[in-house]
Amino acid sequence: MLNRTEGIVLKSSIFGEADLIVTYLTKDFGLLRVFVKSPRKTKSRFGSSIEPLTYAKISFLGKEQANLPRLTQSDIIKPFHKLREDYSGMLNIMELLEMNLHFLIDREPHPSIFRLLLTALSKLESDINNGLYYLYYKIKFLEISGYSPRLEICGRCGGLTEGRRHHNFYVSHGSIICHECIGGDDRAVKVTESALKFYKSIFNWKYSTIDRIKAPAHMLAEIQNVINSHISFISSGSKSFDKRLFLSSR
Ligand SMILES: [Zn+2]
Repeated sequence: MLNRTEGIVLKSSIFGEADLIVTYLTKDFGLLRVFVKSPRKTKSRFGSSIEPLTYAKISFLGKEQANLPRLTQSDIIKPFHKLREDYSGMLNIMELLEMNLHFLIDREPHPSIFRLLLTALSKLESDINNGLYYLYYKIKFLEISGYSPRLEICGRCGGLTEGRRHHNFYVSHGSIICHECIGGDDRAVKVTESALKFYKSIFNWKYSTIDRIKAPAHMLAEIQNVINSHISFISSGSKSFDKRLFLSSR
C-alpha cells in the first residue's frame, strides 16, 4: 500500500552495508521510520531531501503494520539548510528533535506536535539564537505529550504553593514539593515565584506573538533550568519509564 504524507527528517542512520533508515516526524503518522535502499545509488533520486530538518512531501510503500516501509518519493517543501549549517545552533535544535525520538511512540499521530516543530524551525530560521523559541517548544511539547512538570501545586499534599518567594522543584518527582512536605535528601532545583508566574503565562502565547514578550534573562534562565532538568530526568529513564505511572502519581 502506498501512503503519502508530509514529514520533517529527525535523523538518518546507516543500516547494513549502505542502506539508510530515515526517521521522520510526519503530519499523519507521527514518528515514522522508513527504509532507504542504498542512498549512494539513489542519491540522485532523493538528493538532499533526506538530510536532517528537511521538510518534505513523502510517499512510502509498505503494509499497514510493516516495521520498515520503503521510501519511494521525497519532494522538498522547505530545506531548512540554513539551520543545518549553524553548528552550535544545530546542537540546540538536536535537543528539540530528540524529544520526539524519546517521548513519541511510532505511528501515533500527533498533528499538533508536527505543527509545533514546523513553526519552531521557521522561527529559528529567522533567529537561531533566540532562547525563548527553544523554551517555548519544550514547554508546549511537554504539555501536548502529557509530560509537563507539576509547578502549580505540591506533588505530595496537593496544596497550593503560592505565597513564597522561592519554591523547590524535585526532579525525581517531576513536581514542586511545598515547604511543609519537604523531607529526605533529594536535590531540589530552586525557582522563584515570579519565574513560576512567568512560566504559567507562557501557555497563553503562540509562536506568532512570542516576539512581543520581553522576559528578564534571569527568569528565562530559571525556567530553562527547571524544564531542562525535568526533560533530562524523564528522558534518561524513558526506556523503562512508564508514562501511566508518572501520570497517575499526579
Ligand atoms: Zn505539600
